[in-house]
Amino acid sequence: MIDFVPTQEQRMLVDTVRQFVRDEIVPLEHELGPDAGELAEADETRLTAKVQQMGLYAWDAPEEVGGPGLDVVTRTLLAIEMSQHRAGLYAPCYGVFGGAGLAQLYDASEELKERYLYPTLRGKLKGFFALTEPSGGSDPARAVRTKAVREGDHWTLNGTKMWISGVLGADYGIVVARTGSGRDGLTSFVVDSDTPGLTVRRVIPTLRKVALPTELSFDDVRVPDTQRLGGIGQGFALAAKRLEQQRVPYAAGCLGVAVVAHRLAVEYAKIRETFGKPLAEQQGIQWMLVDSELDIRTSRLLLLDAAAKVDRGEPARDAIALAKLAVTEAAARVVDRSMQIHGGMGVAVELPLERWYRELRIRRIGEGPNEVQRLIVARELLGDAARAGKAAE
Ligand SMILES: Cc1cc2nc3c(=O)[nH]c(=O)nc-3n(C[C@H](O)[C@H](O)[C@H](O)COP(=O)(O)OP(=O)(O)OC[C@H]3O[C@@H](n4cnc5c(N)ncnc54)[C@H](O)[C@@H]3O)c2cc1C
Repeated sequence: MIDFVPTQEQRMLVDTVRQFVRDEIVPLEHELGPDAGELAEADETRLTAKVQQMGLYAWDAPEEVGGPGLDVVTRTLLAIEMSQHRAGLYAPCYGVFGGAGLAQLYDASEELKERYLYPTLRGKLKGFFALTEPSGGSDPARAVRTKAVREGDHWTLNGTKMWISGVLGADYGIVVARTGSGRDGLTSFVVDSDTPGLTVRRVIPTLRKVALPTELSFDDVRVPDTQRLGGIGQGFALAAKRLEQQRVPYAAGCLGVAVVAHRLAVEYAKIRETFGKPLAEQQGIQWMLVDSELDIRTSRLLLLDAAAKVDRGEPARDAIALAKLAVTEAAARVVDRSMQIHGGMGVAVELPLERWYRELRIRRIGEGPNEVQRLIVARELLGDAARAGKAAE
């Protein structure tokens, strides 16, 4: 990866998406509210058709399910571009590139794929992913208490999920429930949003104003066995796989906003004067900019390293964990420095920096908190010595 040079095709795709963001998305944002997460319907329809013509609709899906079948390195490069606008962290290009999101559905039966995956890829259905519960999200193998009990050809689900994003307006959710003990005691189900007994108990306002998380209640929710996703007891493995796959684009989005925040800081430093000269000539500012450059370049290398390992089929768990934790933290530093360089303007709502600053804070908690990523890397480094009571054995 040290000598990574994009192929001609990758360069062309990156240029296409970069131009699309600059020509189509950024101008629309001048008209939208500072926390917008959706385009007007007419704009969404027009831009979706444009992306379809570009052959990039469902951009992150494999060819066999109708996507362009791009490798993970290329998808990482595109995710970095797609997020380079105000809503880029949680609504990259306002969803007009379509895509899977819920990659676990790739492991579904053909019947479930027909019913949920393909319509989702075509933008006809929306889903949510419900793993976390009030008892905790860092360690779901122990924390999941929502129970699924089998009764003939049906399962009955009872329990509570918490912090679940994208429920409002979703047609279905992938729900992880307990069917046994320990890590092998979790099973996933695809549950229609209108199933009797499934209710949104409350919306939880956070510093992210789009896709507000919710608390969900399951009261005797009956789900046919045909809605089971994967084998009984495979829910944890499927969730871990989905989260792992998701972490590279998740981190790539953070790098995208860091790149724009840094660009804004560099430009501002050239034009803003204090003490009789531009900020660009003040060493304190130069050092901040260099630190941001360093954060951006190291983030890019770590991301591409993780993506390339996935593409080569090598074990990538620790590389993905390192990339997720390094990039989410580096991007927050870059945005913070850019705000500082902008002075008062840095916190003004008319610039996107304050939104990125708020939303990036969630990135250290979502998709596996950074402490858990450190735990993954520590276990890789130390093996059994990282587990209490194991070192002396
Ligand atoms: C805005 C938002 C959207 C979300 N969307 C979804 C969603 O759509 N679906 C879903 O399933 N979940 C979602 N989550 C939940 C998210 O994944 C969890 O918040 C996360 O996994 C942490 O779980 P927790 O909040 O219960 O913290 P806890 O598990 O209680 O952990 C508390 C803190 O302790 C740290 N910690 C835990 N163990 C250790 C350790 N061994 N060493 C050091 N530190 C440790 C954690 O990193 C965390 O910082 C969302 C959360 C937020 C905030």
